Amino acid sequence: MTPRSAPLWIVLFLAAAAALWWWQKPAPPPLPPAPTPPPPTLSDLAGVPDWASLNRYQSTITRTDFLRLMDQVFTVSPAWRDWIEVGTEDAKIRTTDGESLRLRFAPDGLASTPPRYWRTLAELPPAPPDRPLDGLKIAIDPGHIGGRWGKMEERWFQLPGSNLQVQEGDMTLQVAKLLKPKLEALGATVTLVRDQTEPVTTIRPEMLQDEARASQSGESIAKLAERLFYRTAEIRARAKLVNDTIKPDLVLCLHFNANEWGDPKAPTLVPANHFHMILNGGYTDDEVALADQRHDLLTKLLQGIHDEERKLAASAAAAFVEKTGMPPYLYSPDKRNNRNVDANPYLWARNLLANRLYECPVVYYEPYVMNSTEDYARIEAGDYEGEREVAGKMRPSIFREYASCVALGLERYFRERSPVR
Ligand SMILES: [Zn+2]
Repeated sequence: MTPRSAPLWIVLFLAAAAALWWWQKPAPPPLPPAPTPPPPTLSDLAGVPDWASLNRYQSTITRTDFLRLMDQVFTVSPAWRDWIEVGTEDAKIRTTDGESLRLRFAPDGLASTPPRYWRTLAELPPAPPDRPLDGLKIAIDPGHIGGRWGKMEERWFQLPGSNLQVQEGDMTLQVAKLLKPKLEALGATVTLVRDQTEPVTTIRPEMLQDEARASQSGESIAKLAERLFYRTAEIRARAKLVNDTIKPDLVLCLHFNANEWGDPKAPTLVPANHFHMILNGGYTDDEVALADQRHDLLTKLLQGIHDEERKLAASAAAAFVEKTGMPPYLYSPDKRNNRNVDANPYLWARNLLANRLYECPVVYYEPYVMNSTEDYARIEAGDYEGEREVAGKMRPSIFREYASCVALGLERYFRERSPVR
Protein backbone atom coordinates (compact mmCIF):
# COMPACT_ATOMS: atom_id res chain seq x y z
CA MET A 1 0.00 0.00 0.00
CA THR A 2 1.52 3.35 -0.93
CA PRO A 3 0.92 6.40 1.29
CA ARG A 4 -0.90 8.11 -1.62
CA SER A 5 -3.65 5.45 -1.77
CA ALA A 6 -4.75 5.84 1.89
CA PRO A 7 -7.29 8.67 1.29
CA LEU A 8 -9.01 6.55 -1.39
CA TRP A 9 -9.51 3.74 1.10
CA ILE A 10 -11.02 6.19 3.53
CA VAL A 11 -13.36 7.57 0.89
CA LEU A 12 -14.49 4.06 -0.10
CA PHE A 13 -15.06 3.12 3.53
CA LEU A 14 -17.11 6.21 4.23
CA ALA A 15 -19.15 5.67 1.05
CA ALA A 16 -19.90 2.07 2.04
CA ALA A 17 -20.90 3.17 5.55
CA ALA A 18 -23.18 5.85 4.13
CA ALA A 19 -24.79 3.34 1.72
CA LEU A 20 -25.40 0.90 4.58
CA TRP A 21 -26.93 3.64 6.71
CA TRP A 22 -29.18 4.70 3.82
CA TRP A 23 -30.22 1.12 3.17
CA GLN A 24 -31.16 0.52 6.80
CA LYS A 25 -32.87 3.88 7.22
CA PRO A 26 -36.47 3.36 8.32
CA ALA A 27 -39.00 3.84 5.48
CA PRO A 28 -40.52 7.33 5.41
CA PRO A 29 -44.01 7.45 6.89
CA PRO A 30 -46.66 6.74 4.20
CA LEU A 31 -48.18 9.79 2.55
CA PRO A 32 -51.70 10.56 3.70
CA PRO A 33 -54.21 9.04 1.19
CA ALA A 34 -55.14 11.41 -1.65
CA PRO A 35 -58.59 12.83 -1.05
CA THR A 36 -61.23 10.91 -3.07
CA PRO A 37 -62.43 13.23 -5.82
CA PRO A 38 -66.15 14.02 -5.63
CA PRO A 39 -68.22 11.98 -8.10
CA PRO A 40 -68.67 13.83 -11.39
CA THR A 41 -71.99 15.61 -11.83
CA LEU A 42 -71.81 15.75 -15.64
CA SER A 43 -71.02 13.21 -18.38
CA ASP A 44 -67.98 13.51 -20.67
CA LEU A 45 -68.06 16.67 -22.81
CA ALA A 46 -71.55 17.58 -21.53
CA GLY A 47 -72.46 21.21 -20.83
CA VAL A 48 -74.45 22.26 -17.78
CA PRO A 49 -78.07 21.49 -18.71
CA ASP A 50 -80.64 24.22 -19.14
CA TRP A 51 -83.14 23.17 -16.49
CA ALA A 52 -85.50 26.03 -17.35
CA SER A 53 -86.12 24.27 -20.68
CA LEU A 54 -88.26 21.76 -18.75
CA ASN A 55 -90.74 24.54 -17.91
CA ARG A 56 -92.18 24.01 -21.40
CA TYR A 57 -93.65 20.75 -20.13
CA GLN A 58 -95.48 22.19 -17.10
CA SER A 59 -98.90 20.54 -16.64
CA THR A 60 -98.62 18.39 -19.79
CA ILE A 61 -98.23 14.90 -18.28
CA THR A 62 -100.31 13.17 -15.60
CA ARG A 63 -98.73 11.82 -12.43
CA THR A 64 -99.77 8.27 -13.41
CA ASP A 65 -98.02 8.45 -16.78
CA PHE A 66 -94.94 10.07 -15.28
CA LEU A 67 -94.54 7.30 -12.69
CA ARG A 68 -95.26 4.53 -15.21
CA LEU A 69 -92.58 5.78 -17.59
CA MET A 70 -89.98 6.42 -14.87
CA ASP A 71 -90.49 3.04 -13.19
CA GLN A 72 -91.11 0.79 -16.18
CA VAL A 73 -89.13 2.30 -19.05
CA PHE A 74 -86.52 4.90 -18.15
CA THR A 75 -84.85 3.47 -15.03
CA VAL A 76 -83.77 0.09 -13.68
CA SER A 77 -84.30 0.63 -9.94
CA PRO A 78 -86.20 2.91 -7.52
CA ALA A 79 -82.96 4.87 -6.81
CA TRP A 80 -84.13 7.67 -9.14
CA ARG A 81 -86.30 8.85 -6.24
CA ASP A 82 -83.13 10.20 -4.61
CA TRP A 83 -83.14 12.81 -7.39
CA ILE A 84 -86.82 13.31 -8.17
CA GLU A 85 -89.34 13.59 -5.38
CA VAL A 86 -92.85 12.82 -6.58
CA GLY A 87 -95.70 14.48 -4.67
CA THR A 88 -99.42 14.38 -5.39
CA GLU A 89 -99.41 17.42 -7.68
CA ASP A 90 -95.83 17.85 -8.76
CA ALA A 91 -92.34 16.42 -8.98
CA LYS A 92 -89.38 18.18 -7.38
CA ILE A 93 -86.38 17.58 -9.61
CA ARG A 94 -82.86 18.10 -8.28
CA THR A 95 -80.93 20.32 -10.67
CA THR A 96 -77.16 20.60 -11.18
CA ASP A 97 -76.40 22.81 -8.19
CA GLY A 98 -78.61 20.95 -5.71
CA GLU A 99 -81.53 23.36 -6.16
CA SER A 100 -84.83 21.92 -7.30
CA LEU A 101 -87.21 22.54 -10.16
CA ARG A 102 -90.91 22.02 -9.64
CA LEU A 103 -92.74 20.24 -12.44
CA ARG A 104 -96.54 20.32 -12.07
CA PHE A 105 -98.56 17.32 -13.29
CA ALA A 106 -101.65 17.63 -15.46
CA PRO A 107 -104.86 16.58 -13.71
CA ASP A 108 -106.06 13.11 -14.82
CA GLY A 109 -107.68 13.27 -18.24
CA LEU A 110 -106.19 16.71 -18.95
CA ALA A 111 -102.78 15.79 -20.38
CA SER A 112 -101.84 17.93 -23.38
CA THR A 113 -99.43 17.73 -26.30
CA PRO A 114 -95.96 18.78 -25.15
CA PRO A 115 -93.94 21.18 -27.33
CA ARG A 116 -91.60 19.32 -29.72
CA TYR A 117 -90.24 19.64 -33.25
CA TRP A 118 -91.37 16.18 -34.43
CA ARG A 119 -94.84 14.82 -35.18
CA THR A 120 -96.53 11.56 -34.19
CA LEU A 121 -98.30 9.38 -36.75
CA ALA A 122 -101.63 10.84 -35.57
CA GLU A 123 -100.38 14.43 -36.01
CA LEU A 124 -99.30 14.03 -39.64
CA PRO A 125 -101.65 15.37 -42.32
CA PRO A 126 -103.47 12.83 -44.53
CA ALA A 127 -101.33 11.16 -47.21
CA PRO A 128 -102.04 9.75 -50.68
CA PRO A 129 -102.37 5.92 -50.40
CA ASP A 130 -99.29 5.26 -52.55
CA ARG A 131 -97.14 7.71 -50.55
CA PRO A 132 -97.53 6.69 -46.89
CA LEU A 133 -94.40 8.68 -45.90
CA ASP A 134 -95.63 11.85 -47.65
CA GLY A 135 -94.10 14.96 -46.00
CA LEU A 136 -92.38 12.92 -43.29
CA LYS A 137 -88.93 14.25 -42.34
CA ILE A 138 -86.46 11.43 -41.75
CA ALA A 139 -82.80 11.67 -40.70
CA ILE A 140 -80.67 8.60 -41.37
CA ASP A 141 -77.71 8.26 -39.01
CA PRO A 142 -75.25 5.69 -40.40
CA GLY A 143 -73.55 4.41 -37.24
CA HIS A 144 -69.81 5.04 -36.71
CA ILE A 145 -67.45 6.87 -39.11
CA GLY A 146 -65.64 4.19 -41.13
CA GLY A 147 -62.99 4.97 -43.77
CA ARG A 148 -59.58 5.84 -42.32
CA TRP A 149 -61.17 6.07 -38.84
CA GLY A 150 -62.47 2.48 -38.73
CA LYS A 151 -59.45 0.99 -36.97
CA MET A 152 -59.39 3.73 -34.33
CA GLU A 153 -63.11 3.15 -33.71
CA GLU A 154 -62.43 -0.57 -33.22
CA ARG A 155 -65.19 -1.34 -35.69
CA TRP A 156 -62.83 -3.03 -38.13
CA PHE A 157 -61.48 -6.52 -38.76
CA GLN A 158 -59.74 -8.42 -41.53
CA LEU A 159 -59.32 -12.17 -41.91
CA PRO A 160 -55.73 -13.39 -42.47
CA GLY A 161 -55.09 -13.80 -46.19
CA SER A 162 -58.20 -11.82 -47.16
CA ASN A 163 -58.28 -8.47 -48.95
CA LEU A 164 -61.64 -7.59 -47.42
CA GLN A 165 -61.59 -5.07 -44.59
CA VAL A 166 -64.88 -5.28 -42.72
CA GLN A 167 -65.75 -1.84 -41.34
CA GLU A 168 -69.12 -1.15 -39.74
CA GLY A 169 -68.98 2.58 -40.55
CA ASP A 170 -68.59 1.85 -44.28
CA MET A 171 -71.38 -0.71 -44.31
CA THR A 172 -73.92 1.47 -42.49
CA LEU A 173 -73.26 4.26 -44.99
CA GLN A 174 -73.74 1.83 -47.88
CA VAL A 175 -77.14 0.81 -46.44
CA ALA A 176 -78.08 4.47 -45.86
CA LYS A 177 -77.43 5.32 -49.50
CA LEU A 178 -79.58 2.39 -50.69
CA LEU A 179 -82.32 3.28 -48.20
CA LYS A 180 -82.62 7.01 -48.98
CA PRO A 181 -84.21 6.64 -52.47
CA LYS A 182 -86.58 3.94 -51.19
CA LEU A 183 -87.94 6.26 -48.50
CA GLU A 184 -88.10 9.18 -50.93
CA ALA A 185 -90.17 7.06 -53.32
CA LEU A 186 -92.64 6.58 -50.45
CA GLY A 187 -92.87 10.38 -50.03
CA ALA A 188 -90.34 11.13 -47.25
CA THR A 189 -87.82 13.98 -47.15
CA VAL A 190 -84.57 12.27 -46.19
CA THR A 191 -81.34 13.75 -44.80
CA LEU A 192 -78.21 11.73 -44.08
CA VAL A 193 -76.56 12.82 -40.84
CA ARG A 194 -73.26 11.92 -42.54
CA ASP A 195 -72.84 11.07 -46.24
CA GLN A 196 -69.14 10.20 -46.23
CA THR A 197 -66.69 8.22 -44.14
CA GLU A 198 -65.55 11.35 -42.27
CA PRO A 199 -66.57 12.73 -38.87
CA VAL A 200 -69.29 15.33 -38.46
CA THR A 201 -67.43 16.92 -35.55
CA THR A 202 -64.53 19.30 -36.19
CA ILE A 203 -62.93 18.15 -32.92
CA ARG A 204 -59.98 15.74 -33.19
CA PRO A 205 -58.31 13.49 -30.56
CA GLU A 206 -55.35 15.86 -30.11
CA MET A 207 -57.79 18.57 -28.96
CA LEU A 208 -59.13 16.32 -26.19
CA GLN A 209 -55.93 15.61 -24.24
CA ASP A 210 -56.96 17.71 -21.22
CA GLU A 211 -60.39 16.09 -21.03
CA ALA A 212 -58.79 12.64 -21.31
CA ARG A 213 -56.34 13.47 -18.51
CA ALA A 214 -59.19 14.71 -16.31
CA SER A 215 -61.18 11.51 -16.61
CA GLN A 216 -58.92 9.58 -14.14
CA SER A 217 -59.86 6.21 -15.60
CA GLY A 218 -56.32 4.82 -15.56
CA GLU A 219 -56.42 4.15 -19.30
CA SER A 220 -53.87 5.58 -21.71
CA ILE A 221 -54.49 9.26 -22.40
CA ALA A 222 -54.13 8.73 -26.15
CA LYS A 223 -56.76 5.96 -26.25
CA LEU A 224 -59.14 7.95 -24.07
CA ALA A 225 -58.77 11.06 -26.21
CA GLU A 226 -59.54 8.95 -29.30
CA ARG A 227 -62.64 7.49 -27.73
CA LEU A 228 -63.84 10.90 -26.57
CA PHE A 229 -63.44 11.99 -30.20
CA TYR A 230 -65.08 9.17 -32.18
CA ARG A 231 -67.73 8.26 -29.65
CA THR A 232 -68.58 11.31 -27.55
CA ALA A 233 -67.69 14.44 -29.54
CA GLU A 234 -68.86 12.85 -32.79
CA ILE A 235 -72.27 11.83 -31.46
CA ARG A 236 -72.71 15.21 -29.75
CA ALA A 237 -72.01 16.92 -33.10
CA ARG A 238 -74.54 14.69 -34.86
CA ALA A 239 -77.15 15.42 -32.19
CA LYS A 240 -76.63 19.16 -32.62
CA LEU A 241 -77.13 18.80 -36.37
CA VAL A 242 -80.29 16.72 -35.83
CA ASN A 243 -81.87 18.90 -33.11
CA ASP A 244 -80.89 22.37 -34.37
CA THR A 245 -80.95 21.98 -38.15
CA ILE A 246 -82.67 18.85 -39.48
CA LYS A 247 -85.43 18.65 -36.81
CA PRO A 248 -86.78 15.38 -38.25
CA ASP A 249 -89.91 13.44 -37.28
CA LEU A 250 -87.64 10.47 -36.59
CA VAL A 251 -84.02 9.34 -36.78
CA LEU A 252 -82.99 5.95 -38.13
CA CYS A 253 -79.76 4.78 -36.47
CA LEU A 254 -78.21 2.06 -38.62
CA HIS A 255 -75.75 -0.43 -37.11
CA PHE A 256 -74.48 -3.95 -37.68
CA ASN A 257 -74.07 -6.06 -34.59
CA ALA A 258 -71.10 -8.35 -33.89
CA ASN A 259 -70.00 -10.88 -31.30
CA GLU A 260 -66.63 -10.58 -29.57
CA TRP A 261 -64.08 -11.11 -32.36
CA GLY A 262 -60.82 -10.92 -30.41
CA ASP A 263 -57.76 -9.93 -32.46
CA PRO A 264 -59.00 -7.76 -35.36
CA LYS A 265 -56.22 -9.19 -37.58
CA ALA A 266 -57.20 -12.79 -36.75
CA PRO A 267 -60.88 -12.43 -35.84
CA THR A 268 -63.00 -15.29 -34.58
CA LEU A 269 -65.98 -16.18 -36.80
CA VAL A 270 -68.98 -17.50 -34.90
CA PRO A 271 -72.10 -19.46 -35.89
CA ALA A 272 -74.38 -16.94 -34.09
CA ASN A 273 -76.97 -14.73 -35.73
CA HIS A 274 -79.39 -12.33 -34.07
CA PHE A 275 -81.26 -9.03 -34.27
CA HIS A 276 -82.71 -6.43 -31.92
CA MET A 277 -83.88 -2.81 -31.75
CA ILE A 278 -82.78 -0.34 -29.06
CA LEU A 279 -85.13 2.26 -27.57
CA ASN A 280 -84.13 4.97 -25.11
CA GLY A 281 -84.58 3.97 -21.48
CA GLY A 282 -83.03 1.72 -18.82
CA TYR A 283 -80.91 4.49 -17.23
CA THR A 284 -78.67 3.07 -14.49
CA ASP A 285 -78.55 4.60 -10.99
CA ASP A 286 -75.19 6.21 -11.83
CA GLU A 287 -76.58 7.71 -15.02
CA VAL A 288 -79.61 9.22 -13.27
CA ALA A 289 -77.14 10.79 -10.81
CA LEU A 290 -75.48 12.77 -13.63
CA ALA A 291 -77.24 16.13 -14.07
CA ASP A 292 -77.13 16.20 -17.88
CA GLN A 293 -78.43 12.64 -18.22
CA ARG A 294 -81.23 13.29 -15.72
CA HIS A 295 -82.18 16.36 -17.74
CA ASP A 296 -82.04 14.45 -21.07
CA LEU A 297 -84.08 11.57 -19.63
CA LEU A 298 -86.80 14.02 -18.58
CA THR A 299 -86.78 15.70 -21.99
CA LYS A 300 -87.32 12.31 -23.69
CA LEU A 301 -89.99 11.31 -21.18
CA LEU A 302 -91.91 14.60 -21.17
CA GLN A 303 -91.94 14.85 -24.98
CA GLY A 304 -93.81 11.54 -25.13
CA ILE A 305 -91.07 10.03 -27.29
CA HIS A 306 -91.27 6.52 -25.86
CA ASP A 307 -94.82 5.84 -26.94
CA GLU A 308 -94.04 6.69 -30.59
CA GLU A 309 -90.67 4.95 -30.45
CA ARG A 310 -92.08 1.64 -29.21
CA LYS A 311 -94.77 1.52 -31.92
CA LEU A 312 -92.23 2.36 -34.64
CA ALA A 313 -89.73 -0.19 -33.30
CA ALA A 314 -92.39 -2.93 -33.11
CA SER A 315 -93.29 -2.38 -36.77
CA ALA A 316 -89.60 -2.16 -37.76
CA ALA A 317 -88.77 -5.41 -35.93
CA ALA A 318 -91.76 -7.29 -37.37
CA ALA A 319 -90.70 -6.46 -40.93
CA PHE A 320 -87.09 -7.49 -40.30
CA VAL A 321 -88.06 -10.78 -38.67
CA GLU A 322 -90.62 -11.59 -41.35
CA LYS A 323 -88.02 -11.16 -44.12
CA THR A 324 -84.94 -12.63 -42.42
CA GLY A 325 -86.19 -14.96 -39.66
CA MET A 326 -83.38 -13.71 -37.39
CA PRO A 327 -83.75 -14.77 -33.74
CA PRO A 328 -83.76 -12.09 -31.01
CA TYR A 329 -80.65 -10.98 -29.16
CA LEU A 330 -81.54 -11.34 -25.48
CA TYR A 331 -80.00 -9.12 -22.81
CA SER A 332 -79.25 -10.51 -19.41
CA PRO A 333 -81.44 -8.95 -16.72
CA ASP A 334 -78.41 -9.19 -14.38
CA LYS A 335 -76.63 -6.46 -16.33
CA ARG A 336 -79.07 -3.86 -15.00
CA ASN A 337 -78.49 -1.44 -17.86
CA ASN A 338 -81.48 -2.45 -19.94
CA ARG A 339 -85.23 -3.04 -19.88
CA ASN A 340 -87.26 -5.25 -22.13
CA VAL A 341 -90.05 -3.32 -23.88
CA ASP A 342 -93.65 -4.57 -24.12
CA ALA A 343 -92.52 -8.20 -23.64
CA ASN A 344 -91.31 -8.13 -27.26
CA PRO A 345 -88.04 -10.15 -27.37
CA TYR A 346 -86.68 -7.87 -30.11
CA LEU A 347 -87.19 -4.54 -28.27
CA TRP A 348 -84.78 -3.37 -25.57
CA ALA A 349 -84.54 -0.02 -23.79
CA ARG A 350 -80.97 1.17 -23.20
CA ASN A 351 -79.44 4.54 -22.56
CA LEU A 352 -77.04 5.19 -25.45
CA LEU A 353 -75.65 8.64 -26.24
CA ALA A 354 -77.25 8.60 -29.71
CA ASN A 355 -80.73 7.62 -28.63
CA ARG A 356 -80.58 9.95 -25.62
CA LEU A 357 -79.47 13.17 -27.33
CA TYR A 358 -81.78 13.10 -30.35
CA GLU A 359 -84.93 14.92 -29.23
CA CYS A 360 -87.30 12.84 -31.34
CA PRO A 361 -88.19 9.14 -31.76
CA VAL A 362 -85.09 7.10 -32.65
CA VAL A 363 -85.44 3.81 -34.48
CA TYR A 364 -82.17 2.06 -33.69
CA TYR A 365 -81.35 -1.10 -35.64
CA GLU A 366 -78.89 -3.80 -34.52
CA PRO A 367 -79.30 -6.57 -37.13
CA TYR A 368 -76.79 -9.20 -38.32
CA VAL A 369 -73.54 -10.36 -36.75
CA MET A 370 -70.62 -9.05 -38.81
CA ASN A 371 -68.34 -11.88 -37.66
CA SER A 372 -70.85 -14.71 -38.04
CA THR A 373 -69.83 -17.28 -40.65
CA GLU A 374 -73.01 -16.63 -42.62
CA ASP A 375 -73.07 -12.83 -42.48
CA TYR A 376 -69.33 -12.62 -43.17
CA ALA A 377 -69.91 -14.62 -46.38
CA ARG A 378 -72.70 -12.17 -47.29
CA ILE A 379 -70.48 -9.15 -46.61
CA GLU A 380 -67.75 -10.78 -48.70
CA ALA A 381 -70.24 -11.27 -51.56
CA GLY A 382 -70.69 -7.46 -51.60
CA ASP A 383 -73.64 -5.57 -53.05
CA TYR A 384 -75.52 -6.95 -56.07
CA GLU A 385 -78.97 -6.76 -57.64
CA GLY A 386 -81.50 -9.59 -57.39
CA GLU A 387 -80.59 -12.84 -55.65
CA ARG A 388 -77.46 -15.00 -55.63
CA GLU A 389 -76.41 -18.15 -53.88
CA VAL A 390 -74.38 -17.13 -50.84
CA ALA A 391 -73.50 -19.46 -47.95
CA GLY A 392 -75.70 -22.16 -49.50
CA LYS A 393 -78.86 -20.07 -49.98
CA MET A 394 -80.36 -17.84 -52.67
CA ARG A 395 -80.59 -14.33 -51.22
CA PRO A 396 -80.38 -10.62 -51.88
CA SER A 397 -77.23 -8.68 -50.92
CA ILE A 398 -77.05 -8.08 -47.18
CA PHE A 399 -77.06 -4.30 -47.80
CA ARG A 400 -80.19 -4.35 -49.98
CA GLU A 401 -81.96 -6.75 -47.64
CA TYR A 402 -81.23 -4.37 -44.73
CA ALA A 403 -82.54 -1.33 -46.67
CA SER A 404 -85.69 -3.19 -47.84
CA CYS A 405 -86.52 -4.38 -44.33
CA VAL A 406 -86.21 -0.83 -42.92
CA ALA A 407 -88.37 0.62 -45.73
CA LEU A 408 -91.02 -2.10 -45.29
CA GLY A 409 -91.34 -1.55 -41.54
CA LEU A 410 -91.82 2.20 -41.98
CA GLU A 411 -94.17 1.82 -44.94
CA ARG A 412 -96.45 -0.45 -42.92
CA TYR A 413 -96.40 1.82 -39.88
CA PHE A 414 -97.24 5.00 -41.78
CA ARG A 415 -99.87 3.27 -43.93
CA GLU A 416 -102.08 3.73 -40.86
CA ARG A 417 -102.21 7.49 -41.61
CA SER A 418 -105.58 8.76 -42.70
CA PRO A 419 -105.76 8.85 -46.51
CA VAL A 420 -106.27 12.06 -48.51
CA ARG A 421 -109.98 12.47 -49.21
ZN1 LIG B 1 -72.51 -0.10 -34.23
